[in-house]
Amino acid sequence: MTRTDVIVAGGGPVGLVAAIRARLAGFEATVLEPHDGDLDKACGEGLMPVALESLAEIGVAPAGMDIAGFRYTDGRRSVEHRLSGSPGRGVRRTTLHSALRARAAEVGVVVESARVDAIVQDDASVSAGGVTGSWLLACDGLHSSVSRLLGLDLPIPRRGRRFGLRRHFRVAPWSDLVEVHWSPDAEAYITPVASDTVGVAVMGPRGTDFRSALAAMPELADRIGTAEPASTLRGAGPFGYRTRHRTAGRVMLVGDSSGYVDSLTGEGLRVGFAQADAAVRAALQGSPALYEREWHRVTRDVRRLTTGLVTAATSPVRPAIVPAAAALPGVFGFVVERLAR
Ligand SMILES: Cc1cc2nc3c(=O)[nH]c(=O)nc-3n(C[C@H](O)[C@H](O)[C@H](O)COP(=O)(O)OP(=O)(O)OC[C@H]3O[C@@H](n4cnc5c(N)ncnc54)[C@H](O)[C@@H]3O)c2cc1C
Repeated sequence: MTRTDVIVAGGGPVGLVAAIRARLAGFEATVLEPHDGDLDKACGEGLMPVALESLAEIGVAPAGMDIAGFRYTDGRRSVEHRLSGSPGRGVRRTTLHSALRARAAEVGVVVESARVDAIVQDDASVSAGGVTGSWLLACDGLHSSVSRLLGLDLPIPRRGRRFGLRRHFRVAPWSDLVEVHWSPDAEAYITPVASDTVGVAVMGPRGTDFRSALAAMPELADRIGTAEPASTLRGAGPFGYRTRHRTAGRVMLVGDSSGYVDSLTGEGLRVGFAQADAAVRAALQGSPALYEREWHRVTRDVRRLTTGLVTAATSPVRPAIVPAAAALPGVFGFVVERLAR
Protein backbone atom coordinates (compact mmCIF):
# COMPACT_ATOMS: atom_id res chain seq x y z
CA MET A 1 0.00 0.00 0.00
CA THR A 2 1.46 3.41 -1.04
CA ARG A 3 1.17 6.26 1.47
CA THR A 4 0.13 9.87 0.72
CA ASP A 5 -1.69 12.74 2.45
CA VAL A 6 -4.54 13.42 0.02
CA ILE A 7 -5.99 10.80 -2.35
CA VAL A 8 -7.96 12.32 -5.22
CA ALA A 9 -10.36 9.89 -6.90
CA GLY A 10 -10.83 11.13 -10.47
CA GLY A 11 -8.42 13.15 -12.58
CA GLY A 12 -10.91 15.36 -14.42
CA PRO A 13 -10.56 19.15 -14.17
CA VAL A 14 -11.85 19.39 -10.60
CA GLY A 15 -9.71 16.46 -9.41
CA LEU A 16 -6.56 17.97 -10.92
CA VAL A 17 -7.33 21.41 -9.47
CA ALA A 18 -7.89 19.79 -6.06
CA ALA A 19 -4.62 17.85 -6.30
CA ILE A 20 -2.63 20.93 -7.37
CA ARG A 21 -4.17 22.96 -4.54
CA ALA A 22 -3.35 20.16 -2.09
CA ARG A 23 0.31 20.16 -3.21
CA LEU A 24 0.52 23.95 -3.02
CA ALA A 25 -0.85 23.71 0.55
CA GLY A 26 2.01 21.35 1.47
CA PHE A 27 0.27 17.95 1.19
CA GLU A 28 1.47 14.95 -0.78
CA ALA A 29 -1.27 14.23 -3.34
CA THR A 30 -2.06 11.15 -5.45
CA VAL A 31 -4.70 11.18 -8.21
CA LEU A 32 -6.36 7.88 -9.14
CA GLU A 33 -7.75 8.11 -12.69
CA PRO A 34 -8.56 5.14 -14.95
CA HIS A 35 -8.15 7.00 -18.28
CA ASP A 36 -4.91 8.24 -19.90
CA GLY A 37 -4.18 11.35 -21.93
CA ASP A 38 -5.96 14.68 -22.30
CA LEU A 39 -9.54 13.76 -21.46
CA ASP A 40 -12.46 15.01 -23.52
CA LYS A 41 -16.02 15.21 -22.19
CA ALA A 42 -19.46 16.58 -23.08
CA CYS A 43 -19.21 20.19 -21.88
CA GLY A 44 -20.16 23.68 -23.03
CA GLU A 45 -16.51 24.66 -22.32
CA GLY A 46 -17.30 28.17 -21.10
CA LEU A 47 -15.05 29.24 -18.21
CA MET A 48 -16.51 32.10 -16.20
CA PRO A 49 -14.15 34.93 -15.11
CA VAL A 50 -14.04 33.60 -11.56
CA ALA A 51 -13.06 30.13 -12.84
CA LEU A 52 -10.18 31.74 -14.75
CA GLU A 53 -9.13 33.57 -11.57
CA SER A 54 -9.18 30.31 -9.66
CA LEU A 55 -6.97 28.67 -12.32
CA ALA A 56 -4.60 31.66 -12.36
CA GLU A 57 -4.17 31.32 -8.58
CA ILE A 58 -2.70 27.85 -9.08
CA GLY A 59 -0.58 28.87 -12.09
CA VAL A 60 -2.81 27.59 -14.92
CA ALA A 61 -3.81 29.75 -17.92
CA PRO A 62 -5.37 27.63 -20.68
CA ALA A 63 -5.60 29.07 -24.20
CA GLY A 64 -9.01 29.76 -25.72
CA MET A 65 -11.32 32.47 -27.01
CA ASP A 66 -12.57 35.40 -24.94
CA ILE A 67 -16.23 35.32 -23.92
CA ALA A 68 -17.60 38.85 -23.58
CA GLY A 69 -21.04 37.87 -22.30
CA PHE A 70 -24.21 35.92 -23.04
CA ARG A 71 -27.05 36.13 -25.54
CA TYR A 72 -30.39 34.31 -25.28
CA THR A 73 -32.54 33.93 -28.39
CA ASP A 74 -35.64 31.97 -29.38
CA GLY A 75 -35.40 32.97 -33.06
CA ARG A 76 -37.86 35.83 -32.66
CA ARG A 77 -36.62 37.72 -29.62
CA SER A 78 -33.19 38.00 -28.10
CA VAL A 79 -31.39 39.63 -25.18
CA GLU A 80 -27.71 39.98 -24.48
CA HIS A 81 -25.50 41.06 -21.61
CA ARG A 82 -21.82 42.00 -21.84
CA LEU A 83 -19.85 41.23 -18.67
CA SER A 84 -18.91 44.34 -16.74
CA GLY A 85 -15.44 43.14 -15.73
CA SER A 86 -12.89 40.80 -17.28
CA PRO A 87 -14.10 38.31 -19.91
CA GLY A 88 -14.64 34.58 -19.55
CA ARG A 89 -12.97 32.12 -21.93
CA GLY A 90 -14.12 29.29 -24.18
CA VAL A 91 -11.54 26.52 -23.70
CA ARG A 92 -11.53 23.05 -25.30
CA ARG A 93 -11.70 20.41 -22.58
CA THR A 94 -8.59 18.70 -23.98
CA THR A 95 -6.69 22.03 -23.80
CA LEU A 96 -7.82 22.60 -20.20
CA HIS A 97 -6.90 19.05 -19.24
CA SER A 98 -3.48 19.31 -20.87
CA ALA A 99 -2.71 22.57 -19.00
CA LEU A 100 -3.86 21.06 -15.68
CA ARG A 101 -1.87 17.84 -16.19
CA ALA A 102 1.28 19.84 -16.97
CA ARG A 103 0.88 21.97 -13.84
CA ALA A 104 0.09 18.90 -11.70
CA ALA A 105 3.31 17.23 -12.88
CA GLU A 106 5.27 20.46 -12.23
CA VAL A 107 4.13 20.70 -8.59
CA GLY A 108 4.68 16.98 -7.91
CA VAL A 109 1.19 15.50 -8.00
CA VAL A 110 1.42 11.70 -8.43
CA VAL A 111 -1.07 10.30 -10.97
CA GLU A 112 -1.84 6.57 -10.95
CA SER A 113 -3.93 4.61 -13.40
CA ALA A 114 -6.67 3.20 -11.17
CA ARG A 115 -10.43 3.18 -10.71
CA VAL A 116 -11.75 3.51 -7.15
CA ASP A 117 -14.21 0.70 -6.53
CA ALA A 118 -13.77 0.19 -2.78
CA ILE A 119 -12.96 2.45 0.17
CA VAL A 120 -11.79 1.45 3.63
CA GLN A 121 -11.50 4.07 6.34
CA ASP A 122 -11.10 4.47 10.10
CA ASP A 123 -10.59 7.44 12.43
CA ALA A 124 -7.03 8.06 11.23
CA SER A 125 -6.84 7.12 7.55
CA VAL A 126 -8.62 6.18 4.34
CA SER A 127 -7.52 3.70 1.65
CA ALA A 128 -8.56 3.27 -1.99
CA GLY A 129 -6.94 1.90 -5.16
CA GLY A 130 -3.87 0.64 -3.31
CA VAL A 131 -3.14 4.04 -1.70
CA THR A 132 -3.61 5.09 1.95
CA GLY A 133 -3.99 8.73 2.92
CA SER A 134 -5.38 11.09 5.52
CA TRP A 135 -8.14 12.36 3.21
CA LEU A 136 -9.92 11.22 0.08
CA LEU A 137 -11.37 13.87 -2.22
CA ALA A 138 -13.93 12.16 -4.46
CA CYS A 139 -13.80 14.03 -7.79
CA ASP A 140 -15.21 11.19 -9.89
CA GLY A 141 -17.92 13.17 -11.61
CA LEU A 142 -21.66 12.95 -12.23
CA HIS A 143 -23.18 9.76 -10.72
CA SER A 144 -20.02 9.27 -8.67
CA SER A 145 -19.11 5.70 -7.73
CA VAL A 146 -17.59 6.92 -4.46
CA SER A 147 -20.82 8.67 -3.50
CA ARG A 148 -22.73 5.46 -4.30
CA LEU A 149 -20.26 3.27 -2.37
CA LEU A 150 -20.75 5.47 0.71
CA GLY A 151 -24.54 5.68 0.34
CA LEU A 152 -24.40 9.45 -0.18
CA ASP A 153 -26.21 9.64 -3.53
CA LEU A 154 -29.96 10.28 -3.88
CA PRO A 155 -32.24 8.79 -6.57
CA ILE A 156 -32.98 11.07 -9.54
CA PRO A 157 -36.72 11.57 -10.14
CA ARG A 158 -37.79 9.89 -13.41
CA ARG A 159 -39.98 12.81 -14.50
CA GLY A 160 -38.35 15.74 -16.27
CA ARG A 161 -34.92 14.10 -16.68
CA ARG A 162 -32.57 16.12 -18.86
CA PHE A 163 -29.45 15.18 -20.79
CA GLY A 164 -26.62 16.97 -22.62
CA LEU A 165 -24.94 16.37 -25.99
CA ARG A 166 -22.01 18.21 -27.49
CA ARG A 167 -20.08 18.43 -30.74
CA HIS A 168 -17.66 20.94 -32.34
CA PHE A 169 -17.90 22.46 -35.80
CA ARG A 170 -15.24 23.95 -38.04
CA VAL A 171 -16.60 27.47 -38.43
CA ALA A 172 -15.20 30.85 -37.40
CA PRO A 173 -17.05 32.14 -34.30
CA TRP A 174 -19.54 34.79 -35.44
CA SER A 175 -19.84 36.35 -31.98
CA ASP A 176 -17.77 36.91 -28.85
CA LEU A 177 -20.85 36.02 -26.77
CA VAL A 178 -21.94 32.58 -25.64
CA GLU A 179 -25.24 32.19 -27.44
CA VAL A 180 -28.05 30.13 -25.96
CA HIS A 181 -30.64 29.22 -28.60
CA TRP A 182 -34.02 28.09 -27.28
CA SER A 183 -36.40 25.81 -29.19
CA PRO A 184 -39.68 24.44 -27.77
CA ASP A 185 -37.86 21.37 -26.36
CA ALA A 186 -34.13 22.01 -26.15
CA GLU A 187 -31.44 24.65 -25.69
CA ALA A 188 -28.16 24.91 -27.60
CA TYR A 189 -25.11 26.63 -26.12
CA ILE A 190 -22.66 27.97 -28.69
CA THR A 191 -19.19 28.65 -27.30
CA PRO A 192 -16.27 30.01 -29.36
CA VAL A 193 -13.23 27.81 -28.52
CA ALA A 194 -10.75 28.61 -31.36
CA SER A 195 -10.51 31.06 -34.27
CA ASP A 196 -11.99 28.37 -36.54
CA THR A 197 -14.09 26.28 -34.12
CA VAL A 198 -17.27 26.59 -32.08
CA GLY A 199 -18.57 24.09 -29.55
CA VAL A 200 -22.28 23.27 -29.58
CA ALA A 201 -23.83 21.79 -26.43
CA VAL A 202 -27.48 20.76 -26.63
CA MET A 203 -29.56 20.18 -23.50
CA GLY A 204 -33.00 18.59 -23.54
CA PRO A 205 -35.21 15.70 -22.43
CA ARG A 206 -34.44 12.00 -22.92
CA GLY A 207 -34.32 11.09 -26.61
CA THR A 208 -33.18 14.57 -27.76
CA ASP A 209 -31.56 14.15 -31.18
CA PHE A 210 -28.64 16.52 -31.77
CA ARG A 211 -29.27 17.25 -35.47
CA SER A 212 -33.07 17.56 -35.09
CA ALA A 213 -32.61 19.89 -32.13
CA LEU A 214 -30.36 22.21 -34.20
CA ALA A 215 -32.75 22.05 -37.16
CA ALA A 216 -35.46 23.46 -34.87
CA MET A 217 -33.27 26.56 -34.28
CA PRO A 218 -33.29 28.29 -37.71
CA GLU A 219 -30.62 30.91 -36.94
CA LEU A 220 -28.26 28.15 -35.82
CA ALA A 221 -29.14 25.82 -38.68
CA ASP A 222 -28.07 28.62 -41.08
CA ARG A 223 -24.76 29.14 -39.25
CA ILE A 224 -23.59 25.56 -38.85
CA GLY A 225 -25.90 23.51 -41.08
CA THR A 226 -23.15 22.69 -43.60
CA ALA A 227 -20.09 23.14 -41.35
CA GLU A 228 -17.70 20.22 -40.98
CA PRO A 229 -17.88 18.49 -37.57
CA ALA A 230 -14.63 18.90 -35.62
CA SER A 231 -15.26 16.31 -32.89
CA THR A 232 -17.36 13.24 -32.21
CA LEU A 233 -20.74 13.51 -30.50
CA ARG A 234 -20.56 13.02 -26.73
CA GLY A 235 -23.37 12.83 -24.21
CA ALA A 236 -23.90 13.17 -20.46
CA GLY A 237 -26.73 12.83 -17.96
CA PRO A 238 -29.23 12.54 -16.56
CA PHE A 239 -28.78 15.81 -14.69
CA GLY A 240 -30.53 16.65 -11.42
CA TYR A 241 -28.06 14.48 -9.48
CA ARG A 242 -28.10 15.15 -5.72
CA THR A 243 -26.31 13.88 -2.61
CA ARG A 244 -27.44 13.54 1.02
CA HIS A 245 -24.18 14.85 2.50
CA ARG A 246 -20.89 15.94 1.00
CA THR A 247 -18.71 14.19 3.58
CA ALA A 248 -18.46 10.73 5.15
CA GLY A 249 -15.62 10.30 7.63
CA ARG A 250 -12.40 11.22 5.78
CA VAL A 251 -14.06 11.42 2.36
CA MET A 252 -15.30 14.68 0.79
CA LEU A 253 -17.31 14.82 -2.45
CA VAL A 254 -15.97 17.57 -4.72
CA GLY A 255 -17.16 18.77 -8.14
CA ASP A 256 -19.97 17.01 -10.04
CA SER A 257 -19.69 14.04 -7.66
CA SER A 258 -21.21 16.23 -4.92
CA GLY A 259 -24.30 17.08 -7.01
CA TYR A 260 -25.13 18.65 -10.36
CA VAL A 261 -28.30 20.54 -11.17
CA ASP A 262 -28.12 21.08 -14.94
CA SER A 263 -25.90 22.49 -17.69
CA LEU A 264 -28.36 25.28 -18.51
CA THR A 265 -26.28 27.92 -16.72
CA GLY A 266 -22.84 26.45 -17.64
CA GLU A 267 -21.48 26.66 -14.11
CA GLY A 268 -19.98 23.26 -13.30
CA LEU A 269 -16.31 24.14 -13.55
CA ARG A 270 -16.53 27.44 -11.67
CA VAL A 271 -18.35 25.79 -8.77
CA GLY A 272 -16.17 22.66 -8.85
CA PHE A 273 -12.98 24.73 -8.62
CA ALA A 274 -14.40 26.64 -5.62
CA GLN A 275 -15.29 23.33 -3.96
CA ALA A 276 -11.76 22.00 -4.58
CA ASP A 277 -10.35 25.06 -2.82
CA ALA A 278 -12.79 24.62 0.10
CA ALA A 279 -12.00 20.88 0.44
CA VAL A 280 -8.26 21.47 0.66
CA ARG A 281 -8.78 24.20 3.26
CA ALA A 282 -11.00 21.81 5.24
CA ALA A 283 -8.30 19.11 5.05
CA LEU A 284 -5.72 21.62 6.31
CA GLN A 285 -7.98 22.37 9.29
CA GLY A 286 -8.80 18.67 9.78
CA SER A 287 -12.49 19.56 9.56
CA PRO A 288 -14.84 17.88 7.05
CA ALA A 289 -17.66 19.84 8.74
CA LEU A 290 -16.00 23.02 7.46
CA TYR A 291 -16.21 21.61 3.92
CA GLU A 292 -19.91 20.81 4.28
CA ARG A 293 -20.55 24.43 5.35
CA GLU A 294 -18.39 25.90 2.58
CA TRP A 295 -20.02 23.59 0.00
CA HIS A 296 -23.40 25.11 0.83
CA ARG A 297 -21.96 28.62 0.60
CA VAL A 298 -20.17 28.21 -2.73
CA THR A 299 -23.05 26.34 -4.42
CA ARG A 300 -25.97 28.40 -3.05
CA ASP A 301 -26.39 30.83 -5.97
CA VAL A 302 -25.98 28.26 -8.67
CA ARG A 303 -28.33 25.76 -6.99
CA ARG A 304 -31.05 28.39 -6.59
CA LEU A 305 -30.71 30.11 -9.95
CA THR A 306 -30.17 26.97 -12.02
CA THR A 307 -32.94 25.06 -10.24
CA GLY A 308 -35.31 28.01 -10.79
CA LEU A 309 -34.43 28.31 -14.49
CA VAL A 310 -34.64 24.55 -15.12
CA THR A 311 -37.99 24.38 -13.31
CA ALA A 312 -39.29 27.13 -15.61
CA ALA A 313 -37.68 25.54 -18.69
CA THR A 314 -39.43 22.22 -18.06
CA SER A 315 -42.85 23.79 -17.33
CA PRO A 316 -45.57 25.42 -19.44
CA VAL A 317 -43.89 28.84 -18.92
CA ARG A 318 -40.92 27.75 -21.07
CA PRO A 319 -41.99 29.78 -24.18
CA ALA A 320 -42.11 32.93 -22.00
CA ILE A 321 -38.49 32.69 -20.77
CA VAL A 322 -36.70 34.47 -23.63
CA PRO A 323 -39.46 37.10 -24.11
CA ALA A 324 -39.39 37.81 -20.34
CA ALA A 325 -35.57 38.11 -20.35
CA ALA A 326 -35.79 40.42 -23.40
CA ALA A 327 -38.41 42.55 -21.64
CA LEU A 328 -36.27 42.74 -18.48
CA PRO A 329 -32.66 43.05 -19.71
CA GLY A 330 -31.56 44.44 -16.32
CA VAL A 331 -32.70 41.27 -14.55
CA PHE A 332 -31.04 39.11 -17.23
CA GLY A 333 -27.80 41.07 -16.77
CA PHE A 334 -27.99 40.78 -12.98
CA VAL A 335 -28.34 36.99 -13.18
CA VAL A 336 -25.47 36.66 -15.69
CA GLU A 337 -23.18 38.81 -13.51
CA ARG A 338 -24.14 36.83 -10.42
CA LEU A 339 -23.28 33.52 -12.07
CA ALA A 340 -20.09 34.80 -13.70
CA ARG A 341 -18.51 36.01 -10.47
C1 LIG B 1 -23.61 19.35 -21.97
C2 LIG B 1 -22.82 19.98 -20.86
C3 LIG B 1 -22.44 21.31 -20.95
C4 LIG B 1 -21.69 21.89 -19.91
N1 LIG B 1 -21.27 23.18 -20.05
C5 LIG B 1 -20.47 23.73 -19.11
C6 LIG B 1 -19.91 25.02 -19.29
O1 LIG B 1 -20.10 25.68 -20.33
N2 LIG B 1 -19.15 25.54 -18.29
C7 LIG B 1 -18.89 24.84 -17.15
O2 LIG B 1 -18.19 25.36 -16.27
N3 LIG B 1 -19.38 23.61 -16.96
C8 LIG B 1 -20.15 23.03 -17.92
N4 LIG B 1 -20.61 21.75 -17.75
C9 LIG B 1 -20.30 21.05 -16.51
C10 LIG B 1 -18.87 20.52 -16.48
O3 LIG B 1 -18.61 19.76 -17.63
C11 LIG B 1 -18.69 19.66 -15.24
O4 LIG B 1 -19.15 20.39 -14.12
C12 LIG B 1 -17.24 19.27 -15.04
O5 LIG B 1 -16.82 18.36 -16.03
C13 LIG B 1 -17.05 18.62 -13.67
O6 LIG B 1 -15.72 18.21 -13.54
P1 LIG B 1 -15.34 17.01 -12.58
O7 LIG B 1 -13.87 16.94 -12.59
O8 LIG B 1 -16.10 17.14 -11.29
O9 LIG B 1 -15.97 15.71 -13.27
P2 LIG B 1 -15.56 15.01 -14.65
O10 LIG B 1 -15.11 16.00 -15.65
O11 LIG B 1 -16.71 14.14 -15.00
O12 LIG B 1 -14.32 14.11 -14.27
C14 LIG B 1 -14.47 12.97 -13.46
C15 LIG B 1 -13.26 12.09 -13.62
O13 LIG B 1 -13.37 11.00 -12.70
C16 LIG B 1 -12.96 9.80 -13.34
N5 LIG B 1 -13.63 8.70 -12.66
C17 LIG B 1 -14.92 8.29 -12.77
N6 LIG B 1 -15.16 7.25 -11.94
C18 LIG B 1 -14.00 7.02 -11.27
C19 LIG B 1 -13.61 6.11 -10.26
N7 LIG B 1 -14.47 5.20 -9.78
N8 LIG B 1 -12.33 6.14 -9.80
C20 LIG B 1 -11.45 7.06 -10.27
N9 LIG B 1 -11.77 7.95 -11.22
C21 LIG B 1 -13.02 7.93 -11.72
C22 LIG B 1 -13.41 9.99 -14.79
O14 LIG B 1 -12.66 9.16 -15.67
C23 LIG B 1 -13.14 11.48 -15.02
O15 LIG B 1 -11.86 11.72 -15.52
C24 LIG B 1 -21.35 21.14 -18.77
C25 LIG B 1 -21.74 19.80 -18.67
C26 LIG B 1 -22.46 19.22 -19.70
C27 LIG B 1 -22.83 17.77 -19.60
